Amino acid sequence: MYDVLVIGAGPAGSNVSYQLSKKGFRVKMVDLKERVGIPNHCSGLVDRRVVDIVGEDLVIDRPSEAEISTPIGSFSLSSHRMRVVDRVLLDQKLAAMAQSEGTDLSLMTMVTDVREGSDGINVHIKSKNGFETTRARFVIGADGPASTVRRNLGIRAPKLLSSLQFDLARRSEKVKINLDRRRTPDFFSWEIPSGNEAEIGASGTNSEEVVRSMVGKDRVVRRRGGLIPIGPTQLGKGNSFLIGDAAGLSKSTTGGGLYAALKSGDALACAIQNGGNVLQEYQRNWYGSFGIEIRRDYNIRKLLDRYEKHYNLWVPLVSSSISGINAVGDVDYPSKTLLYMLFSSPLHFPKALKGIMSKSLHS
Ligand SMILES: Cc1cc2nc3c(=O)[nH]c(=O)nc-3n(C[C@H](O)[C@H](O)[C@H](O)COP(=O)(O)OP(=O)(O)OC[C@H]3O[C@@H](n4cnc5c(N)ncnc54)[C@H](O)[C@@H]3O)c2cc1C
Repeated sequence: MYDVLVIGAGPAGSNVSYQLSKKGFRVKMVDLKERVGIPNHCSGLVDRRVVDIVGEDLVIDRPSEAEISTPIGSFSLSSHRMRVVDRVLLDQKLAAMAQSEGTDLSLMTMVTDVREGSDGINVHIKSKNGFETTRARFVIGADGPASTVRRNLGIRAPKLLSSLQFDLARRSEKVKINLDRRRTPDFFSWEIPSGNEAEIGASGTNSEEVVRSMVGKDRVVRRRGGLIPIGPTQLGKGNSFLIGDAAGLSKSTTGGGLYAALKSGDALACAIQNGGNVLQEYQRNWYGSFGIEIRRDYNIRKLLDRYEKHYNLWVPLVSSSISGINAVGDVDYPSKTLLYMLFSSPLHFPKALKGIMSKSLHS
């Protein structure tokens, strides 16, 4: 019997396997894919704190500007923290690190059922050898947004936004985000520079129509897609736990989930090492570290859902506070930007009011 069975060899699963193997636990990790990281659904845009964890060698691009478009105009934010990483290599590097610490990895192996018993957890697996049951003391669902483990535990699913991305054969100079809710009612569309390619994508209703309209004359190198979970769920039940997208830990404002996938695994690995009530300890570790920001981020998303389409109210305010936003802005901690906006708005309000008035007169 293994100490820990990890389901999913994405960044969350490989990182937690690496951490636990390093601490001396007997870890098995399974993934239904034939090769780790392939196919890849992700754009790979992260804050540099992710690169500090996974390594500079994975960086493909360093955009320094993000242009945000709305129906009443656009504004530009600058940041020296943005990085685009090679997501396939990232998954493969983390899986290799886990294996080098002793994790036993099986690919083309799909988990179909998870049942907690008195003598451990029984996990039903389908592989090229047929069906089998394996047992472990702890099970970790790192199986992404449509998690089978989560469903088996009876934990409610987060809202899942279907997302589509095309990679184009041309360079791009900056990140471009289009917040026009008339085009993308649930989220936004994007363009991200990635070396010699530009990644264009959109999430939610209309995503296919929107992405197709963004292609222009450029050659499409590849098409890919995936689900973005919106809203954190429970972190587990009994001795079965969820990390990363399986627990809905992507940021609800941007859809970015790589940092949370890594940090939630760190929090869980420490809890398993400490023993006792692992679930309680995992919750404590997670909400004491990055989990609180994921909760805040979800609340900000709910606020945006209500007010984002009132462009003439917030665009002038944001436009008049750009330099401050550039100074405090942090894509992993959007609450910092919100706090800055709340506390500095009296300073910027006179200028913003002019903008609000002129936008209202012209609309
Ligand atoms: C279009 C798109 C663009 C994105 N862009 C960004 C971005 O730019 N920056 C960012 O930070 N985040 C981005 N994300 C989010 C990011 O990709 C996820 O947050 C991240 O992949 C979560 O990692 P994970 O390990 O939790 O899950 P995943 O990466 O989804 O890994 C789950 C693994 O589990 C395996 N699996 C699933 N079910 C089973 C099963 N039953 N049995 C065995 N194996 C199973 C899968 O094959 C997969 O390998 C994007 C997401 C989408 C959809």
